[in-house]
Amino acid sequence: TDPILELRDLEVHFDTFDGRARVINDVDITVDEGETVAIVGESGCGKSVTAETIMGMLPQPPGEIVDGELYYKGEELLGDQTAHERVKSESMGMIFQDPMTSLSPVFTVGEMMRDVLTYQGKTNVGWLEIVRNVLGRRDADEAEMRDRSVELLDQLQIPDPEGVLDRYPIELSGGMRQRVLIAMAMLGEPEFLIADEPTTALDVTVQDQILDLLTEQIERENLSMLYITHNLGVARRIADRIYVMYAGEIAEVGTRDEILDEPLHPYSRGLVDSVPKLTEFDRDGIEGLLPDYTDPPSGCRFHPRCPAAMSGTCDVERPPRYELSSGQEVACHLYEDGLSRAEAAEIAAE
Ligand code: SF4
Ligand code: MG
Repeated sequence: TDPILELRDLEVHFDTFDGRARVINDVDITVDEGETVAIVGESGCGKSVTAETIMGMLPQPPGEIVDGELYYKGEELLGDQTAHERVKSESMGMIFQDPMTSLSPVFTVGEMMRDVLTYQGKTNVGWLEIVRNVLGRRDADEAEMRDRSVELLDQLQIPDPEGVLDRYPIELSGGMRQRVLIAMAMLGEPEFLIADEPTTALDVTVQDQILDLLTEQIERENLSMLYITHNLGVARRIADRIYVMYAGEIAEVGTRDEILDEPLHPYSRGLVDSVPKLTEFDRDGIEGLLPDYTDPPSGCRFHPRCPAAMSGTCDVERPPRYELSSGQEVACHLYEDGLSRAEAAEIAAE
């Protein structure tokens, strides 16, 4: 299958009070047609910045795309804002966290304000008005828009879809609002969905229902999706392939089972081992453990935390992404010699 989306050599810097932060360093991501790809990593690892870049929503300044290309069905978008806008409105659907349920200390005021502005998650506006704004079609035929909205709300198992269209967001539960947000992403009949932690603020049961409904939509419409999450359980439910991100770089890429059952990169191994802890960490913010992006560690960015770090190598040379015979790719010096999966697994077990 052909890739629908290809991100190459992405490098993003931010101007901060402490200097220039090199947040995304040389990131490559490919999503094939019909494939669901997850990017997993701790909060602060750069996964949202990557998503924002793909959606053309990176705030510039303070962000700056220093290098990189983004191809959507072969068409380059990063250098062409008009093309990017067109592809977004014609082909991409974006699903975010419901700004009303994400009022938590995990998010900065800036993040929340941006979410609210972007998704029009205002309490004093009815759904139909929000849909209109999101579609950018204030003059859209009301009856047609209503029919299509009702059909989608119904597919997402929202009771009384007609009635919901005339309600305000604050009148619905968080889970119902998240369903509406998915319906809104589907309204433009996208081929490609991008989701940034949409279920994080919901309790596990509701999260499960939402993921089921999302999976149904994907299968029904044969969509491709890039799904950003810190939650490995969510990645297991939804992803065909997984990119593990650490400190603005891709640490490892493989199929869902490779990454979650037999991770090879020392960081992925730590991540998979610490699943219960990670969720707690993330709530409190794990940022303190990530490096300072204005002065990232030399060589492998993970070396100060890596139990397998080799001094003289890991602190000096940045590891390239080595491809194993299985197709799995690992950015780690341990896998330098084009190993087979079995040999690699043996190293990982040490
Ligand atoms: Fe650890 Fe070195 Fe591999 Fe980085 S390159 S993950 S420091 S062993
Ligand atoms: Mg984020």
